[in-house]
Amino acid sequence: MKLNHIAQEIRVCTRCPLHENRKKAVPGEGSEKARVMLVGEAPGREEDIQGRPFVGRSGGILDEILETAGVKRGDLFITSVVKCRPPENRVPRKVEYKTCIDAHLRRQIAAITPAVICLLGGVAVEALLGMNRVSKIRGKVFERGKDLFFPTYHPAAAGRSRSWYRALSEDMKKLHPLVQSRSRDSE
Ligand code: URA
Repeated sequence: MKLNHIAQEIRVCTRCPLHENRKKAVPGEGSEKARVMLVGEAPGREEDIQGRPFVGRSGGILDEILETAGVKRGDLFITSVVKCRPPENRVPRKVEYKTCIDAHLRRQIAAITPAVICLLGGVAVEALLGMNRVSKIRGKVFERGKDLFFPTYHPAAAGRSRSWYRALSEDMKKLHPLVQSRSRDSE
């Protein structure tokens, strides 16, 4: 299914209670041809207003880190495990992210077939890898079926700690080589 078709479904989705308080759902942004997907936690206040991912404070930090890592936002598909803002920016509940992943994110992944799915922060890591302790597993690669997951810190965490900021920056620099090695593997 085409990405814009999935996005239309997300905008009118009522599968979980998060739709009740949203202004706009945030399906995600980027090309169907993106080789890297970034998956965050949930839209915040600014994302909910604009209907676009990572356009608030975390987005500013993400943009800064991507720029120093030489990664163009336009080469990515950026989204989150839930597409609607949780009230007061609370952490999305398991039933919410499971519903949203099964209904939407899985189909976005199938439409894009990215070489690397970069998981930003503990919620995305828990939701898609069933693992915790991002500090232990960040910057490593996990193969699950056809998908290659690459966990790292959330930009909001990088905004709170210099060492997490440096770690996230280092990990973003690995994205391009990872994509290259995946393309060679499939030749
Ligand atoms: N944080 C996220 O995890 N996703 C967004 O879209 C914005 C902030």
